[in-house]
Amino acid sequence: MNLLIMGPPGAGKGTQAEVLVKELNITHISTGDMFRAAIKEGTEMGKKAKEYMDAGQLVPDEVVVGMVKERLAKPDCRNGFLLDGFPRTLAQADALSATLAGMSITLDGVINIAVPRAKLMARLTGRRICRSCGASFHVVFNPPQQEGVCDSCGGELYQRDDDNEATVGNRLDVYEAQTQPLIDYYAQKGQLININGDQEIKQVLEDILANLRK
Ligand code: ADP
Ligand code: AMP
Repeated sequence: MNLLIMGPPGAGKGTQAEVLVKELNITHISTGDMFRAAIKEGTEMGKKAKEYMDAGQLVPDEVVVGMVKERLAKPDCRNGFLLDGFPRTLAQADALSATLAGMSITLDGVINIAVPRAKLMARLTGRRICRSCGASFHVVFNPPQQEGVCDSCGGELYQRDDDNEATVGNRLDVYEAQTQPLIDYYAQKGQLININGDQEIKQVLEDILANLRK
């Protein structure tokens, strides 16, 4: 299965993706995770991307598109993939369509997780991420069994640099201006799967799986 998962920052894309890729035996491709890995490695691309990420802005289309094209060409994508956090602009969506067409790959669905904006600030400022495996927790809504320690791999949990109030505000504005139009874009293509993300994590997962089985 070849899928996209969309929604505003904090909608629960990463949380759901972690389980979905295991359930469906497909490869998780998160552009945010790829940039954070590049920053950790200290690459030139990582250094450039960090400036945009810290400001809550989008990394330029040509950088992201090039990175995703390379990633989709790797053999582990042949059994299916879940793209998380990409595309985020109409230009990225058009580039993705062209890339997939060139590879004779069709998209099986676009999961859109909807959550009211008023709920997203608390989700993002309370988020904690595992330094080793990238798993996402929340100090109140999805706490780890032991504070500061990842349930999945025992890694150290940290708070992302961009999960502070000022940057989150920018990220939500950028989402509304640049990414929200993609909901219509995929609805018009008949590929959109709308999911209510304002429910318990388990219920969101059940709704996604039920829709994919249809
Ligand atoms: P995204 O990848 O869409 O930015 P995450 O999956 O990282 O979002 O989730 C953002 C924060 O909200 C995390 O701290 C996560 O634990 C929490 N979260 C995810 N889904 C839910 C939910 N359904 N209800 C409450 N909190 C949630
Ligand atoms: P995320 O982990 O998805 O919340 O992404 C974190 C940050 O990485 C975003 O705020 C952007 O600065 C950058 N980023 C991730 N994916 C993209 C994308 N598809 N286009 C542009 N910037 C991106």
